[in-house]
Amino acid sequence: MRILQVSAELFPLLKTGGLADVAGALPAALGAQGCAVRALLPGFPAVVAGLRAPEKVGSFTTPWGEGVDIVLGELPGLGTAGGALQAYVLMAPGLYDRPGNPYHDTQHNPYADNHRRFAALAWGAAHLAYGLDAGWSPQLVHCHDWHAGLSPACMAYWDSPQRVPTLFTIHNLAYQGCFAAACFADLGLPASAFGVNGLEFYGQVSFMKAALVYADHISTVSPSYAREIQTPEQGFGLDGLLRSRAAQLSGILNGVDASVWDPGYDALLAHPFDGRKLTGKALNKAALQAETGLDLLPDAPLFSLVGRLTEQKGLPLVLGGVEEVVGGGGQLLVLGSGDTALEHALAAQAQAHPGRMAVRLDYDEALAHRIFGGSDVTLVPSRFEPCGLTQLYGLKYGSLPLVRRVGGLADTVVDTDLESLDDRSATGFVFDNFDTTDYRRAVRRAFALYRRRADWSRVRQNGMRIASGWEQSALRYRDLYASLLS
Ligand code: ADP
Repeated sequence: MRILQVSAELFPLLKTGGLADVAGALPAALGAQGCAVRALLPGFPAVVAGLRAPEKVGSFTTPWGEGVDIVLGELPGLGTAGGALQAYVLMAPGLYDRPGNPYHDTQHNPYADNHRRFAALAWGAAHLAYGLDAGWSPQLVHCHDWHAGLSPACMAYWDSPQRVPTLFTIHNLAYQGCFAAACFADLGLPASAFGVNGLEFYGQVSFMKAALVYADHISTVSPSYAREIQTPEQGFGLDGLLRSRAAQLSGILNGVDASVWDPGYDALLAHPFDGRKLTGKALNKAALQAETGLDLLPDAPLFSLVGRLTEQKGLPLVLGGVEEVVGGGGQLLVLGSGDTALEHALAAQAQAHPGRMAVRLDYDEALAHRIFGGSDVTLVPSRFEPCGLTQLYGLKYGSLPLVRRVGGLADTVVDTDLESLDDRSATGFVFDNFDTTDYRRAVRRAFALYRRRADWSRVRQNGMRIASGWEQSALRYRDLYASLLS
């Protein structure tokens, strides 16, 4: 099967979150299942810099009259069996050649022409689907998140006797790519598309809605999230549409890319370790404490959080539970950036608890590895969570996840109780309500287990043993592609 994967990010070239990890890992995992995957990416500076041997395969003109070249090149190490991934890149410096974040300027304001930047991506996908590269064309186009969300609409209106099916994967329904109605004129779609049965959403244009209406199938990154987004609580106004498409909506869990995340071979850890020999874990913890200015306390449970500092990720709960962690004799380490108010509140708490709490307001891939490798507990107390990757990294790196029972967190972490301890299914701590009381109770349970060292080791072993690779998920995607092609 020939698949074109369309996304705005791809690890290691460009990453702002889990989307990049998935886009970077999926082609090789699908390749191992017999799929021939090529990627399509906007020509952001980091993408262009990482592309090897680029050659122009064609060009097209956007609906607003801008010329875009499509080049095909190689991304070493990201393809099947460690080979190169073939990647198409849109060369449109006027749209993409800007420093920093792919979506917004240095003041965190979304770029005013974002609708054009990602409409170009969608039209690029449609042109490739319908023959722009004489040497290769996909049988199916797999689009990720709102940035690629207009592609199914462009393809649905393409004048062609044969249809190329589309799969759209939602990584986060909260980010919808909404633009003023006036932007519709730039999109090159018939006027009828701007309606309640098209991409119009409360008077605006929504790229997310375009995908949900026009894609042949919709997937989410966990089965629970596929159910949750059909409710008003988590549907962000699109739950009715999603319910109407329930027959074409399913969830496939993300995996962990073992070539990047494996504590036994992780070059970013000073002391690699595995489930059989955990001395390295203790050494990593001491190094992490030293690096981040925490007191060198080998027996203090070290709670950590790596992620976007937003309400979604449960930072208000973490702030409300600082005393529970620190007062109980533990330590707290946070790495992330995000909402200014949350950043300030975290920094103030760290200042109030020197040696016990540390905060790094940064994006630091290598430090993230060291945190999973050195901490005891990985906090993911999210309000909602499409899949979540950090709890999976925590499991693999022997840092027990403490999570809310929602979305992919509910699908991947088993709460520790007598029964799950006994049958060896326990892997972490799960609480139900998005409130500080429930969160604190889970923190206290983590302390209680930490004092029972044999039980702690057992739960940690359970988590590290879980097979969380991409094989199973890639198989599911392959089967889904096959069903869409049949
Ligand atoms: P989301 O995609 O919602 O941000 P995920 O848990 O799915 O959350 O994926 C987040 C990814 O980004 C993980 O690989 C995580 O390690 C990484 N990450 C998030 N914030 C940071 C940071 N400040 N420094 C390094 N890595 C980070």
